[in-house]
Order: sequence, then C-alpha cells, then structure tokens
Amino acid sequence: MVKFAVRFKYTLTIPRSMELWYDEMHTPNMRLGFRIKRELEHVRSKYQDIHVFETYDYGNLLVIDGTVQTTERDEFIYHEMIVHIPMLTHKDPKRVLIIGGGDGGAAREALKHNPEEVHVVDIDEKVVEVSKKYLPRISSAYEDKRIHLHIEDGLKFVENHGDFDVIIVDSTDPVGPAVGLFQEDFYRKVKKALKPHGVMAQQCGSPFYNPQEACQVKNALKKIFKNVRLYLAYIPTYPSGMWAFVVASDDEIVRKRDGSMLNTKYYNDSIYEAAMVLPNIVKENCED
Ligand code: SAM
Repeated sequence: MVKFAVRFKYTLTIPRSMELWYDEMHTPNMRLGFRIKRELEHVRSKYQDIHVFETYDYGNLLVIDGTVQTTERDEFIYHEMIVHIPMLTHKDPKRVLIIGGGDGGAAREALKHNPEEVHVVDIDEKVVEVSKKYLPRISSAYEDKRIHLHIEDGLKFVENHGDFDVIIVDSTDPVGPAVGLFQEDFYRKVKKALKPHGVMAQQCGSPFYNPQEACQVKNALKKIFKNVRLYLAYIPTYPSGMWAFVVASDDEIVRKRDGSMLNTKYYNDSIYEAAMVLPNIVKENCED
C-alpha cells in the first residue's frame, strides 16, 4: 500500500477584532486563513465532514474533512488543468469518466470537448447537493443531459463499467474513502476500463509538502501504462500553491488536438507543454 502524508486539520478562529476566519493548517506551524462572512452549511455525511463558507475574497468555499476542495475564485485553475491535459492527450474523447468531482467543476470543463457522455461517480451525494446549492457556477454541468451522475464508490464503478476514452480521478486526498483510488490495484482496473488509446489523469498533492506522493503515484502508474508524465499548476488556495497531477496512457503523451478554441482562463496550448517542465525539487524526487 502506498503511504501518504495527510493535510493537517483546520480551525475556526475568532481573533481579537471579532472577525471570523477559517484556517486550514498546512503544517502545525503554517496556516492559510480566509476571512469569512458566515458558515453557509455544515453537514456530516456518511463519509465526510462538509462545510461551505462565504468568504470575503474567494467567493464560496467548499471544505471536506478540513481541507479546501474548491473556491469560486480559483477553482478554474484546478478544473481546467485536471481536465484539458488528459482530454487533449486523446484524439477524440467521446466517453469520459470522472471519479470524485461531485462539485461538477471537472464535468463542466469536460463538456467543452463535446463528448457524447460524461459519467461523474462520487461516493457522497451530500457533496453534489451542497455544490448545486452553493456553487452554481461550478455545478452548472449537471443541467446538461450528457452528464450521468452515479452516487457510488469509484473503486466499484470501474470494476463494472468500461469503454471510456478518458478517466479523470478528481478525488479528495488519499485518506478516508479516497485511499483506494491511489493504489496499484485500482490503476489496473482503470486501465481495463479504458478503450485502446485511453488516457487517465489524477490529482496527486503538493510536491512542496509531500514530494513522495506524486512520485509514488507516478511509479505505480508506470507499472501499468507505457507513458506517464507529472505536471503542475499553481493554485492559490491549496497547500504551498504548487499542485501536482499525473497523466498516463499507452499512447504518446503529446497534445493531439488544438485547444485554443476552449474557453479557458488558465489553460492554453503553451501550458500543455510548460506544465510538464518540472522544477528540480520535483525532478530530484521523481527521476525517470
Ligand atoms: N479538488 C479537490 C481537491 O481538493 O483535491 C477534489 C474535489 S472533489 C469535491 C473530491 C470528491 O471525491 C468528493 O466529493 C468525495 O466525495 C469524492 N470521493 C472520495 N473518495 C471517493 C471514492 N472512493 N469514490 C468516488 N468519489 C470519491
């Protein structure tokens, strides 16, 4: 089993001035704080502790088990990068599977490629519910009839479904229900669920805080796919801001289509290549 460090817990603090802040502890001595107007929702689902806060600067903020999942202000970076890199690595992605991604952001980006079907498989219906209510610009994809939502464990779903062109694992970090989504056994099932020329991608943490995490994911995938590349994006509200993703395929990992027509705020076709140029702190830990 692959082992990962876990993001630290959060605190709600009311400092001297009686302002309300939501703090995520990135280490025991380092935190990122959002000044918030109010807590919009707090539910303990069967699987997770879910909060939605209204912040001053970042719009509505979704937090699961004390870790920032997405904010209205910077969500586009993560969602564009987890989707457009694998989708453009495929010549013609018609059938797409998103595991996790209950907020709907990855599905919204996938629709920009005119697929025939996008299946979103999130284990937790509460995430979908609160996203529809409080994150309408992110969850708007659910109104499209090509989106098929399944409330199910992604681990089970890949065992029973197949023929996907692209599979995107947009899950929480490897704790709780997501642990199995970062293991070799799951990656073998993903490979089986892909058509020939299929492509998969996954988020794999902060290489600044957890240099081993992205490497372990890459090494596990290299046993299963011929080509595996890490890539990075800069996301202000995630620990350290530097975030890693992985893309894997038996085909060559190059951009197969023009992405310049996509309506994006972060991604462009120069970024496809640039994101795979890794700084030394990532390369050193994860040499080919
Ligand atoms: N951008 C995010 C982040 O911070 O890394 C991920 C966002 S998305 C909200 C993560 C989703 O993964 C959650 O809704 C959670 O319910 C889902 N999830 C976790 N484990 C899962 C599993 N085994 N199968 C399906 N969905 C899962």
